Amino acid sequence: TYIVTDNCIVCKYTDCVEVCPVDCFYEGENMLVIHPDECIDCGVCEPECPAEAIKPDTESGLDDWLDLNRKFASIW
Ligand code: SF4
Repeated sequence: TYIVTDNCIVCKYTDCVEVCPVDCFYEGENMLVIHPDECIDCGVCEPECPAEAIKPDTESGLDDWLDLNRKFASIW
């Protein structure tokens, strides 16, 4: 899955939301998150993000962000 990380905070471009084929972005007040169970791993959103906030969860050190994306995607 792909996840949204800290560069998204207060960025609020939504180019990524527009290209996602499965609508798995959720919007909070200060950032977006991706629902990790709905993301189909297509990778289309990653280059669209002007803040380079979207990363594959295979990158190291992102466990906390993965948890945060999952948590808020089910609340928002
Ligand atoms: Fe949506 Fe694809 Fe990005 Fe996952 S990788 S959030 S399915 S655009």
